[in-house]
Amino acid sequence: MSGPHRKPLDAPHLAHLASHRHDIQHHALETPAVRTLAPALRHTHSGYVHSIETAATLDGPGIRFAAFLSGCHFRCLYCHNPDTWKLKHGLHVTVDDLMAEVERYAEFLIRYEGGVTLSGGEVMVQDRFVETLVRRLKARGLHVALDTNGYLGDHVTEELLEDVDLWLLDLKAFDDARHRRLTGQSNAPVLNFARRLSEAGRPMWIRFVLVPGLTDDLGDIARLAAFTAGLATVERVEVLPFHQLGAFKWAELGLDYTLAETPAPEEAQIGEVRAAFAQHGLKVY
Ligand code: SF4
Repeated sequence: MSGPHRKPLDAPHLAHLASHRHDIQHHALETPAVRTLAPALRHTHSGYVHSIETAATLDGPGIRFAAFLSGCHFRCLYCHNPDTWKLKHGLHVTVDDLMAEVERYAEFLIRYEGGVTLSGGEVMVQDRFVETLVRRLKARGLHVALDTNGYLGDHVTEELLEDVDLWLLDLKAFDDARHRRLTGQSNAPVLNFARRLSEAGRPMWIRFVLVPGLTDDLGDIARLAAFTAGLATVERVEVLPFHQLGAFKWAELGLDYTLAETPAPEEAQIGEVRAAFAQHGLKVY
């Protein structure tokens, strides 16, 4: 979601996976439609995957196979991967296709106490596909992490809630107006989902992207930290510094990028924000 930029899925070593591409019509996914997705888009056994990483180390414990699904209803001003926003930005693959790819690494992932992370884009845009995939991954004995912005938390079934071993939840701002300016959407559903994870006893890592001039208000961060500390199952908080590595994608897509002059945060500022979370007793990275 908010990590480094990624290469598209149709890299040469994935040619065989691409060969399974299904000849169906692609649908652009626009923001207002997302909470009531047309059933035709909610495939159970296939979905749109933008890219994969086979030795990811930043998206959960151990060494991981990470699949980045396309489709996102947020429009974060700092998004590093705007090329994942629309479903059509991904490759249409079946659960079987993806499981066959995962299988090549499965024993390695288990031996090194890693697993599989599903990220995006926003994974819950393709809730049915994700549910099926997660069930298959768990049946294979793999640790599963799901990286989400939480907005579609009410699409998460009780089964999925239990199946996922670790939730990577992005909290982008505490103040709702700030969150709307930043993402285009309210954070009320996100905070509700965080509370639901907590009440259900599901482990989570909270991720916060520090963007100078946008998310660095210390009052808002203090309130976010207090909220996070009130959740019962937060194992760690990750403060992720903004960077410009995804800027070129905005230009390539003809999108208006407003952060061209925004610097990466200084180490001292990152330290200050980490301390704001840590003083609530949270483990911070
Ligand atoms: S949630 Fe925001 S940062 Fe993540 S993919 Fe969507 S727009 Fe980009």
